[in-house]
Amino acid sequence: MTNQVNAFGTEAANLDLKQMTIQRREITASDVEIDILFCGVCHSDLHTARNDWGGTNYPAVPGHEIVGRITKVGKAVTKFKVGDLAAVGCLVDSCRTCDSCKQDLEQYCLTGFTGTYNGVDKYLGGRTFGGYSEKVIVTEHFVLKVPENLDLAATAPLLCAGVTTWSPLKHWKVGKGSKVAVIGLGGLGHMAIKLAKGLGAEVTLFSRSKNKTEDALRLGAKEIIMSTNETEMLAAKGKFDLIIDTVPYVHDINPYVQTLSVNGTLVLVGYLGPLDPFLNSVPMILGRKSVAGSVIGGIAETQEMLDFCGKHNIVSDIEIISMQDINKAYERLLKSDVKYRFVIDMASLKGK
Ligand code: NAP
Ligand code: ZN
Ligand code: ZN
Repeated sequence: MTNQVNAFGTEAANLDLKQMTIQRREITASDVEIDILFCGVCHSDLHTARNDWGGTNYPAVPGHEIVGRITKVGKAVTKFKVGDLAAVGCLVDSCRTCDSCKQDLEQYCLTGFTGTYNGVDKYLGGRTFGGYSEKVIVTEHFVLKVPENLDLAATAPLLCAGVTTWSPLKHWKVGKGSKVAVIGLGGLGHMAIKLAKGLGAEVTLFSRSKNKTEDALRLGAKEIIMSTNETEMLAAKGKFDLIIDTVPYVHDINPYVQTLSVNGTLVLVGYLGPLDPFLNSVPMILGRKSVAGSVIGGIAETQEMLDFCGKHNIVSDIEIISMQDINKAYERLLKSDVKYRFVIDMASLKGK
């Protein structure tokens, strides 16, 4: 049976996104169908659309910061009913039996998780299609509950930018008195500041953009260090317990490692690929410092983050756009010109 829905996607790395029709599966007993109301725009959407990481299959329909309302539930669904708010992040499936999955670490599934887009579609074959679309069908285990008190559009970015920064904050046990630094004030960076501050940390922003100082302070940072200023960088030597690096492209991380305290960790969440220049082991060995990586978060952890945000009234700072403006939004994202996450109002795709 066909289940055609309108979507926005691209046919090739060098082409703009445009309206297209995609197929969704019919709901199975454990599935829910979600009418998508808002979808955040992550830098990973752009990387995927333009094949920055290789491996993009076309047509590609990005979008993994999805919020909406349940319109259908399968017979075996217990967590949701028709009319409930619901959210979907970066994962729509995993093996659910490996050691990682059993520990609620579906993002590290040993056989590979199914990404919300460009993942291997176990039902229809081909690749999964993301949230730049009217509706999505997902097995209920991978669907999140949305706190009712939060602004819905501004909640969407929590599903990737939120949990991607929450997960390392929790893993490295950030709490009251921790000294956390964030590199880059974009979608992930601004959520990292809000969440670290919410957990009681003292937060510093490293940025190349002097004009973001006021915003960083408003978002909860105590100070901002210009990463382009050598004197400021040297003055921060030995300071931070945890640094979350959200920069999307290759950059020199050595000057940041110097700013870690003894036992401190710099966790890469942005750039994916070989480091250039090389990482110097000297400060790491002499200060027992670590450089680590982290990818998104598991389902239980995502729910924990959403509940925390509900309790502390934390949402993303957003600019709402229509679906038809996505190509312009990508160009602005490349210039770091967004405060601090674009969110698509999906009514624009439905012609409402
Ligand atoms: P974004 O909104 O574009 O923010 C990135 C920020 O990094 C910019 O605002 C800018 O901040 C800084 N920056 C950009 N280009 C830079 C460069 N060439 N050198 C130094 N700084 C630069 O992107 P995002 O959506 O937050 O995503 C950030 C990265 O994380 C992307 O690569 C994305 O694919 C990745 N990601 C990873 C995961 C994961 O699970 N690990 C999840 C989601 C996204 P300033 O102007 O303040 O310098
Ligand atoms: Zn993302
Ligand atoms: Zn698994």
